[in-house]
Amino acid sequence: MKVKDIMAQLEAKYSNEKEYLQAVRGVLPSIEEVYDEHPEYEKECLLERLVEPDRIFIFKVPWTDDQGDIHVNTGYRVQFNNAIGPYKGGIRFHPSVSISTLKFLGFEQIFKNALTTLPMGGGKGGADFNPKGRSNGEIMRFCQSFILELWHNIGPDTDVPAGDIGVGSREIGYMYGMYKKLARKNTGTFTGKGLSYGGSLIRPEATGFGALYFVSQMLRERGMDIKGKTVAVSGFGNVAWGAVLKATQLGAKVVTISGPDGYIYDPQGISGKKIDYMLELRASGHDIVKPYVDKFPEAVFYPGKRPWEQKVDIAMPCAIQNELNENDARNIIGNNVLCVAEVSNMGCTEKAVDLFLENHMLFAPGKAVNAGGVAVSGLEMSQNAMHLSWPAEEVDEKLRYIMSNIHEQCLKYGKEKDGYINYVKGASIAGFMKVADAMMAQGV
Ligand code: GLU
Repeated sequence: MKVKDIMAQLEAKYSNEKEYLQAVRGVLPSIEEVYDEHPEYEKECLLERLVEPDRIFIFKVPWTDDQGDIHVNTGYRVQFNNAIGPYKGGIRFHPSVSISTLKFLGFEQIFKNALTTLPMGGGKGGADFNPKGRSNGEIMRFCQSFILELWHNIGPDTDVPAGDIGVGSREIGYMYGMYKKLARKNTGTFTGKGLSYGGSLIRPEATGFGALYFVSQMLRERGMDIKGKTVAVSGFGNVAWGAVLKATQLGAKVVTISGPDGYIYDPQGISGKKIDYMLELRASGHDIVKPYVDKFPEAVFYPGKRPWEQKVDIAMPCAIQNELNENDARNIIGNNVLCVAEVSNMGCTEKAVDLFLENHMLFAPGKAVNAGGVAVSGLEMSQNAMHLSWPAEEVDEKLRYIMSNIHEQCLKYGKEKDGYINYVKGASIAGFMKVADAMMAQGV
C-alpha cells in the first residue's frame, strides 16, 4: 500500500488513539518520498509492519496505600520494534497514560533510538498511576507490584526499561530491586540506575545536556552562538534541570521554568544556587513554583500561564506532549524567537509544528533533540555488559559525539531545495532508513 492509504487505514482502525495517530502523522509524510523510491518496501509491507507494535502487555497493578486501602491501576509495556536491538524505552507513571500515549511514545522511540546509532529497538511502558502526593512506601509497593507482573518480559537482551515522567532513579531502584529478586540475575535490564549499582555517570542530566549540544549546533549552522542567548524552559523535572544547567554552563540565560499551575519568570536568570535549590525542591517532592518565588523575590509567578508568551531567543518545552499549541507558536513567531527545541516527546501540537515549518523557523523535533537521554542509556547498557564504569568526561564526550552525529544526519536528509533545514523531515528519514534497512535484511 502507498503511504496515504496506510495512514487512512490507521486513522480508521485506531480512531480513538489520538496521540498515536498524531505521532504517525509526524513521521509518514516526511518519509513518503524515500518510501516511494524503494518499491521493495511496499512489496514487503514494510510500513504496515512498522506501524503495528510487535506486542503490547496490559496488566493489573494492585497496591496497598498507607491507610491499608487497596487500589488497582493498569500497567502496560509496548514492545514496538526490535529490528536494530532490544526494545528500549522509558516507563511513565502519569494519570494520562493509555495505550494511545504509550504507542505514540514507543513509535517515536524506534526512530529516536535508531538516530543514536546504538543498537536499540523501540518500546515504552507505564501505568495510569499518579505518584503525586504518594509516600515513599506507597511508591515502592506500586513499583514492586508493577514489576511482579512485567519481569518475565524484560531483560538485558530483550527489553530494557528506563525512566520517564513520574519515574526517576528512586522508582528505577525499586523496580530493579524487585526484578532481581524474581529473575535471580544481576544484570543491567534497567537503565537510569543509581551509580552504586550499575548506573552511568551523566545519565540523569543526559537528555537536557544532549538537547543543549543539539541546539548549539543548530544555531552554529545559522552562524549564531548560544552564548548570551535567553532561554525559556518549561517543566522542572530531570529533563528541564539538565537543560537549565547546561544552558547556563554554555553562557546562555534561562529565565523560565514551570509547574502544573503556571510558570516562573526570573529576569536575573536561573543559575548557580537557584539550580541547586530547584533540585532540592524536586527531591523533596514539593511543587517548585511557590517556594522559588518566596525565596527569590525578583522572580515573578504567572499562574495558569505558559512561558511561551515571553520574548526570548530560544524556547525549550521540557514537560509533556502537546504542551505548546498553535497560539503559543504564533506568540513565539511574533516574538522573533530564534529557535524552538521540542525537548519533551511530541511537545508541540501538529498545528504548532506546521506553523514553525511554514515560517522556516529553526525547529528541532523531540526524537532528535531529546535523544541524549536514551543515548546515555545505551552507553549504560554497554558499561553493564562490559562490567565497567566510564568516567563522566568519557560519557559526556560520547554524548556530544552522538548528538553531533544526529545533527549531521538531520542536515543530510532534511535540507530542502531552498536551503532550509527541515529537521522534522531529516530526523524521520534518517531514523527510518536505518530501521527499514534492518527490517528488510531480517525478512518478514
Ligand atoms: N524516557 C526517555 C525518552 O523518552 C529515555 C528512555 C530510555 O532511556 O530508555 O527517550
